[in-house]
Amino acid sequence: VTRVGVLALQGDVREHSRMLVRLGADVVLVRRPEELEAVSGVILPGGESGVIDKLAREFGLRLPICAAIARGLPVYGTCAGLILLADRIANPSPGQQSFGGLDITVERNAFGRQAESFETDLQVQGMERAVHAAFIRAPVVVERGPDVRAIATLPDGRVVAVRQENLLGTAFHPEATGETGFHELFLEMIAARTDGVDSVRV
Ligand code: GLN
Repeated sequence: VTRVGVLALQGDVREHSRMLVRLGADVVLVRRPEELEAVSGVILPGGESGVIDKLAREFGLRLPICAAIARGLPVYGTCAGLILLADRIANPSPGQQSFGGLDITVERNAFGRQAESFETDLQVQGMERAVHAAFIRAPVVVERGPDVRAIATLPDGRVVAVRQENLLGTAFHPEATGETGFHELFLEMIAARTDGVDSVRV
C-alpha cells in the first residue's frame, strides 16, 4: 500500500486524507520531520499559504520539505499548496516564503472580489472527463519556466494546473468537489517513481 503524507499544519487536511483513503492509499499526517521519511509522496493542502509557511518553519519542517522536493519526492500542492511549491510569489504576505521547486511565479488571490470563489468544469491535458474544480481565493500561475507544463487553463487562458517532474500543482481544490482525477494522477506519479521511472507522461 502506498503511504502518502498530508502536511497537517493548517488547511483542508481532512478532505485530502479522505480522498487518498478512498483511492486505497495509507495516509500519514505530517507534522514532524521524521514523518516525512515514512512517505512516498506528500500533499500540501489548501488553506493560507502564509500561515502554513510560518508554521512549517516553527515546526522545523521547512528545510526537510525543501530537501525532499529537491531529492525528487513527489509533491502535490493545491491552492495554498501550489503557492508553497512556487519558486516565486508575485505578492507574498509580509515575510512569506515558499518551499519552491516549481519554476513558476504565482499571483495569490488572483480573482477579483466577485469571483473570489467559484466552481467550473475544466478540460485537463491527459484526462478524458472534464474536472469539476472549486476555486477558493485561488492563485494563478503568471509565469513558468520551460520545464513546466500547463495542464489546465481557464477559458481566458490563465494557467491553473501545472506539472514539472516530481511536482504537481493546481490552483483549485479537486478534494473539495470529490474529483478523484488529480489524486489518481498523483498516485501514478508516486508509483512511477517507485518503479524507477523518472516521470509519467500525461
Ligand atoms: N488565498 C490563499 C493563500 O494565499 C489560498 C486559498 C486556498 O488555499 N484556498 O494562501
